[in-house]
Amino acid sequence: MKTLSEEEKNIILESIRDIPDFPKPGIIFKDITTLLSDPKALDTLMTHLENRYKSYDLDYIAGIDARGFIFGAVLADRLGLGFVTIRKKGKLPYTTVAEKYSLEYGFDEVEIHIDAFGDTEKANVLLIDDLIATGGTAVAAANLINKVGAVCVEACFVMELGFLNGKKALPAPVYSVLEID
Ligand code: AMP
Repeated sequence: MKTLSEEEKNIILESIRDIPDFPKPGIIFKDITTLLSDPKALDTLMTHLENRYKSYDLDYIAGIDARGFIFGAVLADRLGLGFVTIRKKGKLPYTTVAEKYSLEYGFDEVEIHIDAFGDTEKANVLLIDDLIATGGTAVAAANLINKVGAVCVEACFVMELGFLNGKKALPAPVYSVLEID
């Protein structure tokens, strides 16, 4: 498995823009729109993920609403796999399974289609999102994959906010391309 060189890491890191105090004071928002609009950074990231995951025995990639859809769908296409969406409550049109998770104040909910992984028994699924902070969203998403009879074999993030240690709660191994302190 090819590891990312320092130069490649910097190409990706420098393409991500920090927006202080968004969406509220004290949060530094990691804006990946500037990564997406930089073809060299996007190709560096996606080629790295393609190389990492081509040796895994995966059946599907599942992306978290909404930025996980972008990286997940590109990766699924590169690997010749199907892509599944894990969406915020009320967006999926067919029968769903839901999982609640707590936010700083109150709750949120994510959903998956009950037949998301078709007829594949115990499908091997890679979960992907842009960023893991507290890990609440990713834990709920991984639980959903397992609830509908598939197996979350790994959770992958472009960025991990290391100081929050969100990955400790995940019911699957975690791989983060960039660790941010
Ligand atoms: P959490 O459930 O706390 O791990 O939050 C992860 C979700 O919130 C992901 O879908 C991220 O896209 C988003 N998120 C949380 N913190 C940030 C941040 N500082 N910058 C950008 N997105 C964030």
